[in-house]
Amino acid sequence: MANYVVGIAGGIGSGKTAVSDRFAGYGTVVVDADVASRDVVRPGEPGLAAIAERYGGAVINGNGELNRAALRERIFRDTEERRWVERLLHPAINRLIAERLAAATSAYALLVNPLMRARDARANRILVVDVSEEVQVARTTARDGVDEEQARAIIASQLPRKERLAFADDVIVNDGALADLDGPVRKLHAEYLELANGA
Ligand code: ADP
Repeated sequence: MANYVVGIAGGIGSGKTAVSDRFAGYGTVVVDADVASRDVVRPGEPGLAAIAERYGGAVINGNGELNRAALRERIFRDTEERRWVERLLHPAINRLIAERLAAATSAYALLVNPLMRARDARANRILVVDVSEEVQVARTTARDGVDEEQARAIIASQLPRKERLAFADDVIVNDGALADLDGPVRKLHAEYLELANGA
């Protein structure tokens, strides 16, 4: 069990995955909050059954999986329903993340949390992946096939860059080439190993 957790924060398209992949290359266990939030609504999970019961077949795909877009549409303007879904899923997501962190066999674990709006209390240290908004827009439109306006709207809905940087212990600036991430990750990995050994 990893007794030391490094939380990774960053806006959409900032490079959290590119960075965490590199830590994973050193054998570091990566727990992704976004993955956990999808896993709790997989077919067979109680979360999906409860959602299907409340909203009916309109939010379930033909293959029995959650139609996330349909659910989003259903609860988008309805605060009460949104809260209901959050109350249903958040405890399950948090439980799954805690289990995965507890099961991590590396000296320290990474917790990638795209929704981090303040220091994540589960993390001993926070690494922020930072890019300019222009780069963020370019990479998000290229990756997700959304247009510039949609990308900017998503960015505007997320935590402002400055506020995220305010709770960072470490920052990786990802404005350059992918290979430019290797050096900073190598250096931080060594630091985190030391911190984890001292913890
Ligand atoms: P996040 O996980 O924060 O949403 P990703 O790591 O998926 O961001 O990066 C967003 C997109 O930009 C991906 O398609 C990724 O391959 C690409 N990308 C990330 N960092 C760089 C970089 N330094 N140079 C070029 N492309 C990058």
